Amino acid sequence: MNCSSVIKKVGVFGGTFDPIHKGHIAVARAVRDELKLDQILMVVNNDQWMRNDPVLASPDDRYKMVKLALNGERNIEVSDVDIVRGGPTYTINTLVDLQKSLGSMVKLHLIVGSDSAMSMHIWKNSEKIPELATIVTVGRPGEVFDTELLDNFHPAKRALYVVGPMLNVSATQIRNLKQSNHSIKNLVTESVDNYIKTQKLYQ
Ligand code: ATP
Repeated sequence: MNCSSVIKKVGVFGGTFDPIHKGHIAVARAVRDELKLDQILMVVNNDQWMRNDPVLASPDDRYKMVKLALNGERNIEVSDVDIVRGGPTYTINTLVDLQKSLGSMVKLHLIVGSDSAMSMHIWKNSEKIPELATIVTVGRPGEVFDTELLDNFHPAKRALYVVGPMLNVSATQIRNLKQSNHSIKNLVTESVDNYIKTQKLYQ
């Protein structure tokens, strides 16, 4: 039996998702298809210690929005592993917990936008991350990702690079539009737009 045929490739795409937008979904689809991943887990952060802006929606609301947005997406699912663990979210813990629950036949691929990839060296125990997952960096408009600029010990130095859909959208832009009473309907799914309206988020 060929052992490689039973190894499952799972993408781990973490984020605050405050809220999830079409850029996130397009990235997940592009990486799934280009790297032929069996599944992508979109892991909702509990407490994002690196953010300057306060997170405006609760973990529960952010989780529900990701679940709604992924309805009907092929092999892309939401994970609450960081919310269940609680406390500040560190990717190292996310990877260890997921590997434990998914088992040794799963090969994890950590998906990060190029902005996040450049700052990975300041993440907790970042030097151990490449041992736990293949790092996949995805292009983001306005963000330069160049491994030549990284020193040899940077966790993203040997990352795979997927150009991806290059959609110029961010959750910050969506929160700002909402706060100034503008429509966000082209930037999020209809289900998320409705959820934000009914729960009166980002007002
Ligand atoms: P915010 O504006 O609140 O910082 P965000 O839009 O960057 O939010 P996050 O939830 O913080 O969204 O990002 C989760 C992951 O998705 C990060 O790795 C980030 O780099 C990546 N990402 C977000 N938007 C895009 C995009 N348009 N293209 C590529 N990657 C993206």
